[in-house]
Order: sequence, then C-alpha cells, then structure tokens
Amino acid sequence: MTLDTPIGSLYGVGPKYEQYFNKNGIFTIKDLLYYFPRAYQNRKDVYKIATPVFDNMPHSYVLTVASEPKAAMIRRGMNIMKFRAFDDSGSVTVTYFNQNYLKDVFRVGATFRFWGKITAEKRTLSLNSPSYEPCVREEELPPFVSIYPLFQGINQKYIARLVSQIRPCISTLIKEYIPSEIRYKYRLCALPYALENIHFPESDEALNAAIRRLTFDELFIFALSLSQMKTVSSSKLAPRMCDSDVSGLLALLPYELTTAQSKVISEIQADMCPKNDIFEGNLSMFTRPMNRIIVGDVGSGKTICAAAASYIACKNGYQCALMVPTEILAFQHYESLHPMFEALGLSCELLTGSTPKKEKNQILSRLKRGETDFVIGTHALIQTGVEFKNLGLVITDEQHRFGVMQRAKLAEKSASAHVLVMSATPIPRTLSLMIYGDLDISLIDTMPPGRKRVNTYNVDSSYRTRLNAFIRKQIENKNQVYIVCPSVEEKKENDLDTPDYNPFIIDLKDDTPPLKAAVDYANELKENVFPDLKVEFLHGKMKAKEKDEIMMRFANGDIDILVSTTVIEVGVNVPNATLMIVENAERFGLSQLHQLRGRVGRGKDQSFCVLVSDARNPKSKERLQIMHTTYDGYTIAEKDLQMRGPGDFFSSSDSIRQSGELGFNIARSCSDNELLHNAFESAKEILKTDRSLSKPENALLREKVSEICNANVQTIS
Ligand code: ADP
Ligand code: MG
Repeated sequence: MTLDTPIGSLYGVGPKYEQYFNKNGIFTIKDLLYYFPRAYQNRKDVYKIATPVFDNMPHSYVLTVASEPKAAMIRRGMNIMKFRAFDDSGSVTVTYFNQNYLKDVFRVGATFRFWGKITAEKRTLSLNSPSYEPCVREEELPPFVSIYPLFQGINQKYIARLVSQIRPCISTLIKEYIPSEIRYKYRLCALPYALENIHFPESDEALNAAIRRLTFDELFIFALSLSQMKTVSSSKLAPRMCDSDVSGLLALLPYELTTAQSKVISEIQADMCPKNDIFEGNLSMFTRPMNRIIVGDVGSGKTICAAAASYIACKNGYQCALMVPTEILAFQHYESLHPMFEALGLSCELLTGSTPKKEKNQILSRLKRGETDFVIGTHALIQTGVEFKNLGLVITDEQHRFGVMQRAKLAEKSASAHVLVMSATPIPRTLSLMIYGDLDISLIDTMPPGRKRVNTYNVDSSYRTRLNAFIRKQIENKNQVYIVCPSVEEKKENDLDTPDYNPFIIDLKDDTPPLKAAVDYANELKENVFPDLKVEFLHGKMKAKEKDEIMMRFANGDIDILVSTTVIEVGVNVPNATLMIVENAERFGLSQLHQLRGRVGRGKDQSFCVLVSDARNPKSKERLQIMHTTYDGYTIAEKDLQMRGPGDFFSSSDSIRQSGELGFNIARSCSDNELLHNAFESAKEILKTDRSLSKPENALLREKVSEICNANVQTIS
C-alpha cells in the first residue's frame, strides 16, 4: 500500500462505494487519511447511574446486564426490547427499538460500555438505544470515538472501519516534511503521530497535540504557497499614473471626507502614482500593480474611495472597470457615480446581463475603441471576452467571498492593471492574514458623522403580536421592512450523532428551537397577517434574474415587506427600509447579523433591528445580547470568533470551496493567534535561505506547496 493507492483497494470498498468517495474528493489512501473527524465523543469519562446528568447529552455508562432482554411488539412494525442493567451505584432500563437481534448480544452478566442519554420516565431511569461496546477491561476501550463528516452512502461505523484498516501503515507511509528545527522550536509533534491521533486520540493531550500540528501544517504550507503566488504577481507591471489630483471629484460631493476616507485615498494614490519609482534611473511608465483591499463597515463610505481610484485611472487616460456581484448593485453604483463622472467630462456606462443585445454590442465596441472611460457591471464584465483598449484599474465590490488564490489569478488575467477590492465584512485580525493574505489592507474605521445607530432588540416569539403591530406602524409611516429567516438548507448537520465533545468550537448545537420555514411564514404573513400589504418572498434558489427583479421592486418601494433567506446580505441600498427582523436569530453568526442590520439605517429615519429567538441556552442569549450592546463591526467580529470559532468567516458556500482550495481543512477552525503567527514566521525563515524551495532537504515541502498552487491554477482557469 502507498499513499496513492486507490481507495477502492481497501477491504469493503466496492465500485459503488468507491464512487461515493470519489464524488466527495476522496480518491486515495492519502485522501482518506486527511479526511479528519469533525468532532469526538469523549467516552472515557464514565458517568454513574445514581448521579445522572439530565443535560440532554449522551454520556458513557459502564453497565452489567442484570435481566434477560424481553421483546414485545408495541404496534405493527414496531418492536421494543428491554432489559435491566446496573453499575455499582444503581440500575437502569435499557431499551432498543426494532433491534430484537441484539437479544443474543446482551447476555446476563456481561458488561458493556454504553453511550447514550439517560431519561427519567415516571421515576424509572432509562437509557434509550445507546451505542455499546463489550467491555472486559475498561481501560482497553478507546477513550474517544471520532465523528466524521458524512456524505451520501457513508455512515460513521463504515468510515471508522476503513480508517482502522490504514492505521497500521501510517508510520511507514507518512514522511515528515517539516524541518526538525522548526518542529523543536514550536513544540510540534511528529506527523505520523499527529495523523494517528487525529483519528484515534489516545488522550486529550495527544488529541490537542495532533490538532495543533495539523493546523500548523496547513497554515505553514499556505504561507509558503502565498509567497510563491506573490512572487509571480510581483513580477508584473501596471501603468504608473502621473496625475494623482482628485480635488475635482471631491468638489462635487455634498459632504467632507472623513479622516479615514482621506487616508485610504492617499494610500491608493501612493500605489497608483508612486513618486519614487521602483526602477533605478529614469522614471518608468510602469510600476508594481496596486493590490489593495478597502475594508470598512457597511455605510462607512467605501464607494467614494473607489470612485477616487477610478477617477485617477480615467484622467490619466486609462479605462476602469467596477465589478459587483448583482445587477441591482451595479445599477445603484451606476446611478450614484455616472452623474459625477459625466460632470467631470468622463464617460461612464452600465453593462449587465440584462443590457439589451444591441446596446450591449455598442458598449462593447466603445470599450474596445477606448471611448468609454469607466464601466460598471456584473462579473460578466471580464469573463465574456470583453475587450478593453487600455484597462488600467479593476475594482471589485463586496467580494470578501473571493479566495486569496482566486484573486491572485484574477490579477494575473487582467494583465497590467491595478486591482482594488472592497469588503464590508470585518474580519478579526487573526484571520485577516488567511483571508486577505495577499492584499495590502486599507481600513475605514470611522463612520461618516451623523449616522444614527440601528437600535437593536432581542425578543422571543411571545412578542409576535406586538412585533406585527410594530411592522404595521413602520409601513403606515411609509417605510419598509425586511424579515430574514434562515433557510432550511442552511442546517449543517447531516447526521444524527450529537458529539459531546468538540475541541474545535464552542458548541451551541444542543440549543435549536424549531426553524421557521421561510416559505410557510411568508405565505402566512401574506394571507393572514398582512393581507392588505404587499409582501414578497425571496430565496437563494431563485434565478438571479428573479431575485434582482424582486430586489429592484423593493428598492423602488413597490413592496412593503420583504421576507427572505440571507440572500439580501450583499450591499443593496434601500434607504427607506427602517426595520430588520431576523427570525431564529440564534442560527446566525454575529458578524452575519451585523451585516443584516446594516441593510437598514441608511436613510434619514430612525431604524430598528429586532432579533427573534426562542433559544434558551444562556450562551445563545449572551451572544445575541452582544448585538444589543455593541454596534462596532470589528468588536462584534472578534467576539464572534471567540464564541463560535472561525467557521462563520469561511461559511458562505463560496468560501467553503475557497478554504478547500487553500488547503484549509482543520485550520478553518484555528483561533490560536500564536500558532498562526508562528506558521507565517517559519515560512519566512525557510524562504530566507531557500527562496524557491529548491534545496534537496525541502523537496517534500516543495511538493506540498505546488499541490496547492496547481490545484488553484486548475480551478480558476
Ligand atoms: P459602503 O462603505 O457600505 O459601500 P457607501 O459608500 O455606500 O458605504 O456610503 C454610504 C452612504 O454614506 C452614501 O449615501 C454616501 O453618500 C454617504 N457618505 C459617504 N461618505 C460620507 C461622508 N464623509 N460624509 C457623509 N456622508 C458620506
Ligand atoms: Mg458598498
């Protein structure tokens, strides 16, 4: 067996199962070895019958069978089997449904380690359908049971059996590739040990060491790949602009820039119009391309900074393209920017999927001839063979969902252009390297003056009647209302095991009030609660065109109440909307809630955000309370990271793919600042003496790095 042996050669994997694995990206023994558990059941801590904990969580009990199992039929197709079992503190009834064949397993006098929830029914304690392991000596049983992420065709037992098959080969198959100096310096355990213990932890300490080592690996390799990608892109050139004066544009604004905005604009000027040329000797026409992200809370005024960059490009004779994720956003940007550009004597056009064909062709030819200075549009802008005469700057808005590597590639495609990205997602400092690693960051950390904050309240569903009255009041005042429900597909669990021990994140899974089904709720509101109002429903599965159409009607004030799943997250501006209601608020990350809250409070009227949740878990309540007391996106992001782990920052569907591309699996959950820092430092250290990783002792490392770089080249091109 080698690491490249196909998974189908394992005992118990026939062609059908091999397909299931392949569909989920597992082709070889190595892939399986790197398919890590998502949680662990801590079975070594054995509880006693006499002191049951009714925390609705499964625990371990070591019990001896006291009475012969008795089976009975409760109704057609439903058998029940019961027996008594005891430990040295008391006894309990163990019950199984439709598993009469277990009768022969549970012999009187035999001892088992059970794993399940104890419930009390009318004074008798019972243990329903627990998992069990025969137990001769307790200490011989594994202390943890790994819980794997499941997919179609695969269950926990099956995957555990397969991993057990390769376990004996781990130490011979796996070769260490991190230099020993680094391993000693940062106290990292050996790779074979880490891989063995991530699947079969022998103790808490071993598990932690394994997680630490494997997280380090992902970050370290990522840091190395990043620098390889940077080396490629820094050899590129972009036009060096001479005229950096933006006063003409600023004179058109009805307001003064904030200090933060001014600072960002001067950073952009320094990138695009450097005074000191990077080349020795005479001034060159070219310079290192700008590769910058503007990060600022919703409403902090990023657009004008981007407009300043566009203005610089255009007045220096270059074209500029602004790309946004949706048509409506493109339209809104166009509406606010084109009057200014026209006033400055520059031509500005809008190009989206719904631009009529004839008009589109005209715009395309003007772009090609260089008659259009500034074009605003959706992604199609750069993808459908649109040609520019001399594109000097590419701006993307709300593209926090783009992967680092994808961006690097995008920059490579738009040969010789500056790149500017805008994002409204505050990212905790720890994670910003992972997410924005390749970009220079410009931060807008203050809001324009006079912003009213969006008063935020937490209520449970007993407030429903009052809440509905409040909705009505907003609409009577000629305002509009958003209602956001989590979409049912967002439920992440795909198997029923509830692990009691998850070393990765603080678990709030046990606290799950029933989900409000968005469709039903929208209909209920439409037909029964507000039959006289205009209520519309928007969800992620709709076609982009349909979504845009509804959004556009909402923006025009033709819809009073918009019920939706989180698709409205992107930066659409509807100043007339004054109330944001979030149902099942416990389901959302705080940063996500903050984003949603930013959809209101954009006009002159006082706005409100109401978070509805029936969650009773004190942790959930505490979390939601933060929204009531905190209005700063960065503070919220940091708290979110502390309380839920970093999953949310990677959790949109695009970024799951993204973090996969980056080779992040376990590191997605890393909130260990120091480890992150160490990984990046180690990468720097290595590159200092071996820039291209060509020394023989770094050969294995180079292989790892090129795996990631190549994977990205493939997914992007
Ligand atoms: P975002 O950062 O979310 O993209 P925008 O750029 O859309 O924010 O700005 C939000 C609103 O704030 C716009 O209506 C814009 O005109 C206004 N704005 C921007 N900067 C200032 C400022 N310095 N003073 C007052 N209003 C401003
Ligand atoms: Mg914006």
